[in-house]
Parts: sequence; structure tokens; C-alpha cells
Amino acid sequence: MNRPQPIDPAPGGLPDCLPQTILIAGDWRTACGGGTIPVTCPSDGAVFCEIAAGGADDVDAAVAAARAAFEGAWGALTATERGRLLLRLSAVILADFDRLVDIEARDTGKPLAQARADITACARYFEFYGGAADKVHGETLPFLGGYTVACLRDPLGVTGHIIPWNYPAQILGRSLGAALAMGNATVLKPAEDACLSALRIATLAGEVGFPDGAINIVTGTGEAAGAALAGHPGIDFVSFTGSPGAGTLVQQAAAINHIGCTLELGGKSPQIVFADADLDAALPVLVNAIIQNAGQTCSAGSRVLVEEPIADQVVERLAERFSALVAAPHDAGADLGGLINPDQVRRVTAFVDRARADGIALVAQGRVADDAPPGGHYVAPMLFAPVPATSELANEEVFGPVLAVTPFADEAQAVALANGTPFGLVAGIWTRDGARQMRIARAMRCGQVYINGYGAGGGIELPFGGVGRSGHGREKGFAALHEFSQIKTVVVNHG
Ligand code: NAD
Repeated sequence: MNRPQPIDPAPGGLPDCLPQTILIAGDWRTACGGGTIPVTCPSDGAVFCEIAAGGADDVDAAVAAARAAFEGAWGALTATERGRLLLRLSAVILADFDRLVDIEARDTGKPLAQARADITACARYFEFYGGAADKVHGETLPFLGGYTVACLRDPLGVTGHIIPWNYPAQILGRSLGAALAMGNATVLKPAEDACLSALRIATLAGEVGFPDGAINIVTGTGEAAGAALAGHPGIDFVSFTGSPGAGTLVQQAAAINHIGCTLELGGKSPQIVFADADLDAALPVLVNAIIQNAGQTCSAGSRVLVEEPIADQVVERLAERFSALVAAPHDAGADLGGLINPDQVRRVTAFVDRARADGIALVAQGRVADDAPPGGHYVAPMLFAPVPATSELANEEVFGPVLAVTPFADEAQAVALANGTPFGLVAGIWTRDGARQMRIARAMRCGQVYINGYGAGGGIELPFGGVGRSGHGREKGFAALHEFSQIKTVVVNHG
């Protein structure tokens, strides 16, 4: 097996020693077409390494390798053995913590504190799914006399995983962890903007003894490698996280091959704040839910719906906090880092410009640190209020540090506004009224509801996913184990 060199722990030289190649059947290779893609650090805009530009031929080879592993060494392991490998992977991720944090922060521009949380979560996914691997039991069903019926939980076979750039290590952990626990062999296509942690984690997986081909990594663009994977006739399932547009293409490709898919496509998640809420507890959470990862979080709390009697007070107190926020390089200990690439900066800025042109008030704004490198992809956090419920800013995902505040008159209007966008991923409810908490939670059209709290992206154990334009299927927790497996019903006539 062609093993990559260990990466150099010295800051600055680190990514030079990453395997900047494609992993197929345990072998690190250049792309069949020989192409590469430059990797840029969002903190300063400088290119610091390159990755392989994989395409259809590479995906072909990766899918064949996964199939061979599924029918061979990987498929032969027991659930307990798979679980132990996942637990070992979790442990070596933690042992490699500082290097992975540094890679993730440089690749995405996220503050080191967020990168630490992400690598911790990634290890926790492998720990959770390692422990769960041999605890997914089938069922027996009552049937006719003289029969015993067993429902077995079988793996799907070869699973494709297309992941985004916002939480690369976390989403790799949640997607591969669950699929591998159930015995599937995997092909991962990380985002072209951030795939270095995937390359490092795959290296570690090889070192702890995952059989060749259980995990294959094809880097490359969405149009080339992503589309080839989604449409490959040799895969049995595809798990996608990213934009609604690309999600549509992935689901269309899956439909042609008659396979299942999960789509996790983002949201416009509301936090509903009633007049009786504990504002001291709510305010820091409201701010963090939108500035975490510079707002590039599918479950970002990007809307605050606030009851009219306290609307002015909430806006004033949010404005105080927003004015103090600072965006700076990933290693500066700031509130937020740069956005992933210049396209995202343009996209977010365009939303802001259109909102202002529509007369929506920008009531507070943070700042970009004076010494932030001019080439960095920074956007200062912004607070808009009051935001009309019909406006673009109240309905479309900005994927940046922009918070929209909309007042409401009563509970019925709060529910209507919360459910009034095409998305439905997460909702937060802030009230001390216990009956209202459950009444509204049940009325929410989304996949996850927090009461007097909010967890943008958190909760390895908690089933997570959306409705409507937020997608379908559930990641995380035991629910994901069901997504990555299928029931086979065995009917025994024993007389
Ligand atoms: P994207 O959907 O284009 O990329 C996500 C992943 O899908 C990447 O790995 C990409 O290479 C791949 N991909 C792209 N086109 C594909 C195709 N035709 N077939 C198969 N795979 C394909 O997202 P983006 O362009 O990087 O970001 C654009 C917007 O998407 C963001 O502004 C944001 O609104 C949204 N987004 C959402 C999430 C999320 O977590 N839900 C993550 C990233 C981006």
C-alpha cells in the first residue's frame, strides 16, 4: 500500500505533507486526469496547497474498490469488529487533535475554538457510532401459526457521501460514522473548498486497520466528481449535504438509479422570543446561533421572531452585542473568521445590499479587525430590524453573519411566521410558559425544536434533518443507522 508521509506538525509547513491525492482501495493516487485544485486559506486569501481534481474515472475506481471491500474483508467483519475500528478511529483523531484543528481552521477560516469543537465532535461521532454498531437489533414479528418472521437490518452496500465545506470534519464523522457502523463501504466526495481534514482522517483510518476500500476519498469539483458519484450506477445510496440546487441534481441522479438519498440542504431557522422569556439567557444564544462559523451553518438561527412588547428592548440589546463583534483570522481568538471564499462574500454582500435597497434598517454592525489581512474573506456581522416577513431577508438562506429580526403580535402569528418560509430545519422557542412550549413545538414544521436553548449543528445523539427545502431524511443519532440500512424480512415456515 502506498502510504502518505506523516504530516509535519510545524505551523506553516503543515499542509505540504498532507496526502493531496485521492484514496482508492487504500492507495493514494493522483487524479486520473492529472488535474489539481488550489486550496486557499480564507483568513488571508493565500493559496497554501493543492488537492487532486478527481473526475468520473476516479469515482469509477473508488466505487469498484468499495464494492470489493463490501464483498470482501470489510463485509466479512462482525458488527462488534466494525465498532472497535470506529472507536479506534475516534481515539486517534483525539490523539491527532492539534494537527487536525490547525488543518481545519486554515482550510475553512473558522476560529480555532470552533475548529476544536468540530474535531471533538468528529471524534465523538466515531465514538457514538462505534458503540452503536452492534446494538442495532432487528425484530421478530407475530405471523401465522407455524411461522417465525425475522426482520434483519442489512447494510445498503456501497454508499456515496457528498459533503460541504462549512463543517467538513463534523459532517464527515456523522455521515461516514453511521454508514460504516452499519457495514456499508463508502466513497466520500468532500467539498473542493475544504477537504484537508478528510484526507487526514482517512489516513488515520488506514493506520488503525480499516480494510482497504472501506473508506475511499475522491476530491474534486461538484460538477465533475460530485455529479459522477451521485449518478454512479454502482452505488446503493447517496447522502448529500449542501445547497438546494445541487441537492435537486443529486436526487434526480439517485432517481435514475432507483436508489435512496438523504438531503440536508440548509434553512432559515427561527428563534421565537416571547415577552416572558429569560432574556439574559436568550441573548447570548441568539447572537451565537448566527455568528457561529460566520453564519455558514445550515441550522444557523438566522431569524429572531420577537413578541411586540419586548421587540425594541431585544433589538437594542442585540445591537449592543453586534456592535462589539469582531471578524479576524482563524488564530486571532475573534468572534468569527472569514467566509469560505470570495463567491460567498459576494453572495452575502448582495443579500445585504438588496435588503438596504429595500429600505430595511441595518441597526447594528460589528467590524473586521484592523489588522486582518486584506486578502481575507471577511464580512462584518450585521443586524437588520424590523425585517418584513415577506422580504427576501426573512425567507432566503444568506449563509453569512446576518440576523433578521421580525416582531409578532401573538402566538398564532409567531407560528405562522416561523413556518412561513420554504425551509424547515430547526426552531428555537424562548418562553417560561410550559404549555406554550409544547404547543408551539408540536406546531413547528421542521426537524428539530429547542426550548429555552438552541444548538446550531450540535447534538451527535439527536436525530437531525429537515422538511421542505431543508431536505429529507435524518442524520445523527440512531435515526441515521436506520437510514444507512434496510430491512430484510425472513419468513420461516417451520410447521
Ligand atoms: P454546493 O451544494 O454546491 O456544495 C456542497 C457539496 O456538493 C460539495 O461537495 C460540492 O462539490 C457538491 N456538489 C456541487 N454540485 C454538485 C452536483 N451537481 N452534483 C453532486 N455534487 C455536487 O454548495 P456551495 O456552492 O459550496 O454553497 C452554496 C450555498 O449552499 C451556500 O451559500 C449555502 O446556502 C448552501 N450550503 C448549505 C450547506 C449546508 O450545510 N446545508 C453547506 C454548504 C452550502
